[in-house]
Amino acid sequence: MSPHPPSLPNSYHTHIAASGLDAMVEAASAAGLAVLGVSEHIFQLHEGRRRIPEAPLEGPLLPMAGYVAQVRGRAPSGVTLRLGLEVDFLPDRQAELAELCDGEPWDFLIVSVHALDGCLLQRLQAPNLAEGWRLWRRYADLLEGAVRGGGCDILAHPLRLSRFVSPPPYLEQCLRPVLEAAAQVGVAVELNGADVVFAPGLQAELLAWCRSCGAAVSFGADAHGPGQIARGAAEALVLLRRAGYAALTGLHGRRPVAEPLPPIEGDG
Ligand SMILES: [Zn+2]
Ligand SMILES: [Zn+2]
Repeated sequence: MSPHPPSLPNSYHTHIAASGLDAMVEAASAAGLAVLGVSEHIFQLHEGRRRIPEAPLEGPLLPMAGYVAQVRGRAPSGVTLRLGLEVDFLPDRQAELAELCDGEPWDFLIVSVHALDGCLLQRLQAPNLAEGWRLWRRYADLLEGAVRGGGCDILAHPLRLSRFVSPPPYLEQCLRPVLEAAAQVGVAVELNGADVVFAPGLQAELLAWCRSCGAAVSFGADAHGPGQIARGAAEALVLLRRAGYAALTGLHGRRPVAEPLPPIEGDG
């Protein structure tokens, strides 16, 4: 057990396909994380891969049962593990993906939009403003669909498109229905560590909008390797305090749990 109280927020977004569970848990322990939410992509599981064959692979495939048993069966350590899954929101395949998730002892499910109508976000191009705006409107529609119909607890990286397509000046109007829906149905909006590092100012705006909509926020480093285990966590803490959040939303057995922000270093 760590002798010090945690100084970083818990992370509910961790992938193990590339580096394995042990390496990620060891890194979490070294970073002083109290809780690590493991959330492999559904398309990294054999069963999910059949439904989403087009997603780029990040490591060897795992069987669903093996993944669940690995996370659930790991010997207790100083880091509490939570079992999750990152599920793509694909309107034409939603029923089969939901069925796949049924019956497993999840602590949390993350819903993600990684593609727009068959095109991965990282391949999108907006040669002019009008096309950029069209893409953002479509993205926001899908995010709202994911919140309302995704059957999940956390909406992943809602500003991910900003890496590839410049956000429009009316981004707030674009995203407000998504955040209002999240507040309404009780889905936590993810403050994504990778996106915090990429564009902290934009994430600060997102937090302000979440706060004014009454949406709960969770933190996820979106770690794909041990070096990313707490990526953006310290920066996220600063942004959360500035936005007026006193607690994050964690998940245990698909139920939200208020997790007070760790004290500021040196506060005693
Ligand atoms: Zn994702
Ligand atoms: Zn992810």
